[in-house]
Amino acid sequence: MKVLVLGAGIAGVTTAYALARDGHEVTVIDRQALAANETSFSNAGMVAPGHAYTWASPRAPMILLKSLWRNDTSLRFKFSTDPRLYAWSLRFLGQCNAVSAARNTGNKLRLCLYSQAQLQRTVADTGLEYDRVTGGAVYLYRDPALFEAGVRNTKVLTDLGLRLEALDPTRAAAVEPALEPVKGQFAGAIYSPSDESGDCHAFANRLAKVCERLGVKFLWQTTITNIRATADRIEGIVTDKGEHTADAYVLALGSYAPIEARRIGVRLPIYPVKGYALTLRVDGRNGAPRLSGVDEQNLMGWSRLGDRLRLTATAEFAGYDTSHRPSDFAHMLRTARSLFPGAADFDNPFMWAGLRPMTPKGTPILGQARHRNLWFNTGLGHMGWTMSHGSARVTADLIAGRKPALDLNGMTLVDA
Ligand SMILES: Cc1cc2nc3c(=O)[nH]c(=O)nc-3n(C[C@H](O)[C@H](O)[C@H](O)COP(=O)(O)OP(=O)(O)OC[C@H]3O[C@@H](n4cnc5c(N)ncnc54)[C@H](O)[C@@H]3O)c2cc1C
Repeated sequence: MKVLVLGAGIAGVTTAYALARDGHEVTVIDRQALAANETSFSNAGMVAPGHAYTWASPRAPMILLKSLWRNDTSLRFKFSTDPRLYAWSLRFLGQCNAVSAARNTGNKLRLCLYSQAQLQRTVADTGLEYDRVTGGAVYLYRDPALFEAGVRNTKVLTDLGLRLEALDPTRAAAVEPALEPVKGQFAGAIYSPSDESGDCHAFANRLAKVCERLGVKFLWQTTITNIRATADRIEGIVTDKGEHTADAYVLALGSYAPIEARRIGVRLPIYPVKGYALTLRVDGRNGAPRLSGVDEQNLMGWSRLGDRLRLTATAEFAGYDTSHRPSDFAHMLRTARSLFPGAADFDNPFMWAGLRPMTPKGTPILGQARHRNLWFNTGLGHMGWTMSHGSARVTADLIAGRKPALDLNGMTLVDA
């Protein structure tokens, strides 16, 4: 079958790979000059089922409310004239109860675990290198009460079979020696031994090369400007370089998917949530962590990418604005310096901001709407690197008419 994949972020490239492996004739369209050049460019690098919690939780409404008048460094919600923000927020608030949070987190964990297994299979099959680090991730708590609550919360993940361990600071420092000098700052840590990390951008570009060897064609610097459709079929994709047709189409446009879907009358409940990232050179310095992790109080994630340390933070509702100023990174830099003093070149950070394609439930949108030859693989949110391989496999299975190995409950437009 001839399949056109729209978007070459991590979702699009992994989908192209899965489809090519199934023997389809695949073409990928992206406006960038290389793969993973938008949201997938500089994420925290964590492949982390141990952090599968959804953002919509019973605590989230109060955190959102406080951010309206406090200059919060981890969450920035400001009033806007965009009605889509309010429609999305209402749906998000509707998920902020204990029952929905547990159900959504459970769905997300299933996908994360399935996806990690698919990633590991791809790595075994291709031998790709992408600064991968295995051996777990550490989730650090500064406040004893929040640590206790964090440990209680793990039940939703451990009940579904994920192994997580509560560690006191000394044991946490034994797992991640970079924490030894600063262990006094922490009440404890939750350790997820099976989590891993790696460079999503490098992975996507190397996988794109593998795809090319499998016959996939990439149309770079090609911007989609319209989608031609009848009531139940996609007829063609209009770009600034001409029109392209196929038997099947996959919409993998990240935060821009709802904009393109609206052209054909489909409303996707996805809103861009901006995050900031710093990449610092380690270059042989001592004291940088090996394992990825999260400072839960400052909501700062990190991972070690070879000679670099990647740090990310902040959820900001700023529409499609990806601009950034040095002051946006000041809190992150302070936190990083205090956590890993002397571990990296803090004076010359590479700064970046990107847009997480968030759904209210935190699970992606897979499957179909009313167009019989269009499939979605979008809305991968704050964990799209983790969830991409599973979402791609599911998408390829659906296109082939096979029943996916993963139960898609909570991951389709019908129940988004
Ligand atoms: C700060 C931050 C930290 C994160 N940390 C993690 C993490 O540690 N672990 C994790 O699992 N996930 C993490 N994520 C989430 C993850 O990065 C995203 O979920 C994932 O990158 C989304 O991939 P995507 O392919 O759906 O979107 P994208 O990477 O944005 O890809 C969409 C593609 O569509 C193309 N496109 C859009 N519109 C058009 C058009 N009109 N014409 C042509 N092409 C178009 C774009 O060029 C782009 O290449 C993080 C995200 C952020 C922002």
